[in-house]
Amino acid sequence: MKARQEERRGLPARTRDGHAVEIGANVNRPDQVAMALSQGAEGVGLMRTEFLFLERGDAPGEDEQYETYRAMLEALDGRPLIVRTLDIGGDKQVPHLQLPHEENPFLGVRGARLLLRHPELLEPQLRALYRAARGAKPGSLLIMFPMITTLREIETLRAVCDRIRAELDAPAVPLGIMVEVPAAAIQADALARHVDFFSIGTNDLTQYALAIDRQHPELAAEADSLHPSVLRLIRMTVDGAEKHGRWVGVCGGIAGDPFGAALLAGLGVRELSMTPRDIPGVKDRLRDSDLAGLQDLARRALDCESSDDVRALEGGAS
Ligand code: PEP
Ligand code: MG
Repeated sequence: MKARQEERRGLPARTRDGHAVEIGANVNRPDQVAMALSQGAEGVGLMRTEFLFLERGDAPGEDEQYETYRAMLEALDGRPLIVRTLDIGGDKQVPHLQLPHEENPFLGVRGARLLLRHPELLEPQLRALYRAARGAKPGSLLIMFPMITTLREIETLRAVCDRIRAELDAPAVPLGIMVEVPAAAIQADALARHVDFFSIGTNDLTQYALAIDRQHPELAAEADSLHPSVLRLIRMTVDGAEKHGRWVGVCGGIAGDPFGAALLAGLGVRELSMTPRDIPGVKDRLRDSDLAGLQDLARRALDCESSDDVRALEGGAS
């Protein structure tokens, strides 16, 4: 029984008619990789590196970070590892960095905005990553930047990557961005020219699209990533990416919900990354579907008036 369950977890998330969706794991610590693989992860779709800076009294240095990324690549044995550069500010505060207090941190210096103002945080991390790429299977390490809002931000970050890569004589590493600010989804076609992939952070994208604090004690339940406005932003991102031959993943919480995953696959999302324990249910759901049915579900969801209406499609979804 257990053996059969494990065998099923190892199967790809391929629909009945052969459409494969890549399944990654969201991990916060390197020691979570083994558990993610045992749940059927095909790689790490989101390594939240801020956790390397939390739970301690100082920032990890370049060498320490290099060892961490190298060990993760080794544990993944050639499977993809998407490392998101430090994403702090907003709900993620790191006391020992002693960053200035902000009245409205969710709309403040967070994610890429913070990295661009703090090269002493950005550059050691990028150096550690490019050093790790030197010993890795080509293409297995990917770098992703959080909270991108403008083209200028990604152009500047790319230039820093190019310089560091040249200094270290390291191989090219695919560079992607999190799409979690509505402006990035709306301008996805322009951004797609400058990046290799997108991963949609539906937790923040929902918060910013619906103007609801994702941690608000009273309102958080209304911050539903299946709201048709959020689904339309996802569709815009996929359309923008496809114009330039880029792929789109989702690493927000909705990717780990079997119905959400089905809808996202129907919207053209190619990779889903989630909490490891959600992987078996999502894989089962996708293997039980066919692509035309998922696309039809996505079309109907985009026409819905509310997230309740979208959820009501669940019973009849294929
Ligand atoms: C998101 O915003 O959806 C996301 C995956 O990033 P985080 O939850 O770490 O902000
Ligand atoms: Mg986010």
